[in-house]
Amino acid sequence: MHLLLFDIDGTLVRTNGSTRNAVEQALSDLVGRQLHTDDVRFSGKTDLQIMAEVFHANNVEASETLVRDALDVYVSVAHPSMTSSDVTVLPGVRDLLDHLRERSDVCLGLVTGNVEPMAYRKLDVVDLGEYFSFGAFGCDDADRNRLPPLAIDRAHNHTGLRFEQTNVTVIGDTRRDIECSRATGARAVAVCTGHYSRQDLSPHEPDALLEDLASMHDVLDALGVGSPRPRNGSPDSSTGTP
Ligand SMILES: [Mg+2]
Repeated sequence: MHLLLFDIDGTLVRTNGSTRNAVEQALSDLVGRQLHTDDVRFSGKTDLQIMAEVFHANNVEASETLVRDALDVYVSVAHPSMTSSDVTVLPGVRDLLDHLRERSDVCLGLVTGNVEPMAYRKLDVVDLGEYFSFGAFGCDDADRNRLPPLAIDRAHNHTGLRFEQTNVTVIGDTRRDIECSRATGARAVAVCTGHYSRQDLSPHEPDALLEDLASMHDVLDALGVGSPRPRNGSPDSSTGTP
């Protein structure tokens, strides 16, 4: 059984500037003065890390409590205001997830820097949330490298199955996705649909590097699940190496 752990932003969907605006508003409200996020890159970072870095960039001493409070205020600002007009599903994603969901040899999960309510909000407004029953999120740990093991544990809790690291693949659009996969001993598949190009990502040596998720055949090959097995009618749910 393969466990495929998808990043969200830049991998499954693209969001407009609403997330950055919400972070800026939430943290400014919390500390009572205007804070700026211009000097902080968000890509590939966990929301806990982003909150801490924004405070640091604005010379605000950020205790763990303040960062946790910031996360709550950010969700209260961003969750209700996010709509389908803020989120674009990236090429091939819906067809790919439709296909993978029907496979008996594939289990789908999330590894994302988003705090859990925002992860599902971004997916739900474009009807992608239903594909994912579990994951590891940006509220679980500030260090993204610690998220894949959490997702693997939750996959076990959800399915009752044990997943070997060699049958786990992390799919993402930044070097941090590749690094967190490596830290876990999992496979890494990188896509160039976020802010980073093939030239940016290639030096980090993912197992596969795709322009996007549009070509089903190429994507399944890259994911190591090239031989489709329909969920119904296959008595064998085990699989070989990726
Ligand atoms: Mg991403």
